[in-house]
Amino acid sequence: MPEIKLFNTLTTTVEPLTPQRDNTLRMYACGPTVYDYGHIGNFRTFLHVDALRRFARQSGMKVEHVMNVTDVDDKIIRNAAAAQMPIQDYTAKFTQAFFEDLEALGIEKPEFVAKATENIPEMVSLIEKLAGDDIAYKTEDGSWYFRIARFPAYGKLSKKDFDGIEDGARVDVDEYEKDAARDFALWKAPKPGEAQWNTAIGCGRPGWHIECSAMAMKYLGETLDLHAGGEDLMFPHHENEIAQSEAATGKPFAQHWMHVRFLLVEGKKMSKSEGNFFTLRDLLLKGYRASYFRRSPA
Ligand SMILES: [Zn+2]
Repeated sequence: MPEIKLFNTLTTTVEPLTPQRDNTLRMYACGPTVYDYGHIGNFRTFLHVDALRRFARQSGMKVEHVMNVTDVDDKIIRNAAAAQMPIQDYTAKFTQAFFEDLEALGIEKPEFVAKATENIPEMVSLIEKLAGDDIAYKTEDGSWYFRIARFPAYGKLSKKDFDGIEDGARVDVDEYEKDAARDFALWKAPKPGEAQWNTAIGCGRPGWHIECSAMAMKYLGETLDLHAGGEDLMFPHHENEIAQSEAATGKPFAQHWMHVRFLLVEGKKMSKSEGNFFTLRDLLLKGYRASYFRRSPA
């Protein structure tokens, strides 16, 4: 059986990909935020993850792969309100579209697909655990934050040096400026008209980062064999996932980290915010075949 060797972002070396137990690769890959149709830059990541899981199976491993679906966040709340739709109906439409696109691309469905809104109790338990150790704290408005000064290894994945972290400086947007370390939101206080849940830690909704830590550990255990995602997620998202998970368990969160490079358009990252994107649907309508997207460049 061929051995799989893969660059590990955490150790910055090429290492064998080895399951910890029963020859089963327990892998987590960050999934879509279902607020719009996916563009081919997004699908580039999912194609790479698909190639990896197929190769792992061909190498004799079993695969348990979890993908999250972020079905509550700032963009979803804003777009659903603009469309005058309840967020459940709004996200159902784009979740279905996402899986249709995966199927068109011949991407296998992961063994577990976990929706954020269906795993709120797991996120609340994780925040309670961090609160018990005084690593999570509540602000006056009812939001909860992670105190990164309590996690000295913060920055170990992205190799950023956060010496001189200002204790208590906070940010409540999920994607923040690239060189600043701030206490990040675990739970967001309720706002009028926004989706909210009544829980033991108060009313509100989860932040994006806690979602992945809670669902990954629920399905795969405290230490994953592999965590994957697009390179833009390395900081702050994956750094925050490591902080939350390892602060709660005291164990490594993932042995191997794989980051998939951006799809570039004239030297720039393809993204919704740059406006330089193509959805898979647009390109199929123009006559391109889905199978083209699986080919390696000549
Ligand atoms: Zn994630």
